[in-house]
Formats: sequence, structure tokens, C-alpha cells
Amino acid sequence: MNIIDKALDLLKGGKLVAIPTETVYGLGADAKNPLAVQKIYAVKGRPPTNPLIIHIPNADAMSHFATDIPEDAWRLAKAFWPGPLTLILNRHTSVPPATTGGQDTVALRVPNHSITLELLARFGGGIAAPSANRYGRISPTTTDHVREELGSKVDYIVEGGPCQIGIESTIVYLAAGSAMILRQGHISATELTAVLGYDIMVKGGPAIEAPGSSLSHYAPIKPLYLLEKLSLQNIMTQLNDQKRHYDVISFASPPEIEPYISQWITASNDPIQYAQHLYSHLRDLDKTNSECILVEAPPNTELWLAITDRLARAARPLE
Ligand code: AMP
Ligand code: MG
Repeated sequence: MNIIDKALDLLKGGKLVAIPTETVYGLGADAKNPLAVQKIYAVKGRPPTNPLIIHIPNADAMSHFATDIPEDAWRLAKAFWPGPLTLILNRHTSVPPATTGGQDTVALRVPNHSITLELLARFGGGIAAPSANRYGRISPTTTDHVREELGSKVDYIVEGGPCQIGIESTIVYLAAGSAMILRQGHISATELTAVLGYDIMVKGGPAIEAPGSSLSHYAPIKPLYLLEKLSLQNIMTQLNDQKRHYDVISFASPPEIEPYISQWITASNDPIQYAQHLYSHLRDLDKTNSECILVEAPPNTELWLAITDRLARAARPLE
């Protein structure tokens, strides 16, 4: 039996299947089967009020999961799907509230990964899939990460290689009036604005607290501090004086002699590549014998917004 046949059988039987996407690996279940969906919440330890994203095979399938779909949604879907954009629309009554965390709205996305697109086309329905990690932890971007996070709690893991984008989708709220960004991602406000023909608003709006927007999300186990270049050097000096081990992610090359650095990662200056490797780096650094991770803050520009957002949520304030 090939991997897609196997995944299909399990999903139809109400089981959990980890699926590859271009953003991060998802923990998938049949979006219209409330019992299957409840398993996602149980395995992740995710509060039941946190809504899931439903993955669908194409834009036309939107109308099986949402109602009163505005013109803006069709326009964005046409421009960016398959791709790392999630649209929040009014929930169709056929979608169980268990899948939407009790909300009257629903999150939809067509992922850009050939295996998952084939799986979705053959499944015929929608696959509800949040990131395949325990609640609050770093999202997985390889199947090894998924195994590390969930082990035997997931019925099957579809191998689809490392995720190409590496951070979660941009989320756009479209259930009332004009579009608004709820979560930053690979697709920027500038790109969305160009398609919509008006300036898209950013957050501040709907009453729903997005799980990805709560503090201490995407977080390694050991403390992570996000620092401007000068403070980074400062803290490194202090930690050296105290003979405490630490890891660094910086845009600079490592200093020649630095006995208390357990691992130094020279990060890419290209935000696309930085995002692709970010979660893998954080997982690797979580396994070293250091006490903490110091990360040099990325440039304060739109291209780095989604990355800075994830780092800020992974970071702790300096004590
Ligand atoms: P994850 O798949 O773990 O990245 O999380 C799903 C994301 O989609 C969360 O950040 C949710 O806030 C967001 N989301 C899903 N459904 C809704 C909804 N109905 N309204 C607002 N946000 C949603
Ligand atoms: Mg998540």
C-alpha cells in the first residue's frame, strides 16, 4: 500500500495522520468528524477553544466549509493558493463547532505540497491540521521533529521532506468587512494589499485570541533571549565572566576564542532561508548543554516581520 492510500484509510477511519505542508507539519484528522478532531486537541494538549485550520484541496472547496464568502476571499485564494495563506470565513453548518473551537468562523487553507494536495484531492473532504507539536512548543518542519514531539500518539506520519517555508501561514480575517491580518507569515501585508486594492489592517480586531498569538508559543524549553546586537555582545561578556554556557544565533561569524559558547549559528541574511531553518535551529540548540539561547534581533523591516514575531513569542524577558 502506498503512503497516500495508507493515510487515506486512516483519515477515513477517524485516525490522526501527520501531513507535510510547505509551512510546517500538520497533525491531521477528518475536519467533519468531531471525534477525530477531539483527538487532535487531546494529543497536542491544546485548549478546546483554540480553533484549527482546515486544509482543503482547492479554492472551489471553500463553499463546502464556509458561507457568505466575500469577493476578497476569492481574490486572495486565486492569488495565493496553494500557498501559506489562511482565510477566516463564516463557518458552514456542516463543519462541527469542535473543529473551530466553538467559533462561528472557520479557518481554511490550500497547502502547497504535492503529496498533501494529492491526499486532499482523493480524500474529498477537509483535513483539520494544526502544527504537529505539543501545545506551546516549536512547530515541526521535518518528520523527525514530529516523531520527537508526538511519538506513537500519532497513527501515521507522511514523509514529505523538510518544509520549504518553515514558519506558519499568514492568517487573514475576512468574516466581517474589510480584510485584517491576524498572524504574520510568509505572505506580507504589501502583497495582500496589492491584490485587495486597499490597505489591509493588521490585527487589533476580532475577539478571538489566536493560539499563535498567545505569549510563550513556539518556545524552546531553555530560556531564549532576543537581543539587539550591542546588548548581545554585552550579555556574552557577562556570561563569559560568570563561566556560564550559552548558544548564539547571530548574523555575525563566531568570535575566535569563546570558551562558554556551546554552539554558534551564523544565520542567513535572507529572511526566506532564515525562516526555513529557524525551528530546526531552535530544536538543535535546545539539546546542547548550554543554559540559554541568545538570538540577535533581525532587521526591523517588513520582510522580517513574521520571523521577529515568532522569535518574540519564543523569547523571555531578560531577568
Ligand atoms: P496552528 O495551525 O497551530 O498554526 O494554529 C491555527 C491558527 O489558526 C491559530 O493561530 C488560530 O488562531 C487560527 N484560527 C483558526 N481558526 C480561526 C478562527 N475561526 N478565527 C480566528 N483564528 C483562527
Ligand atoms: Mg501551532
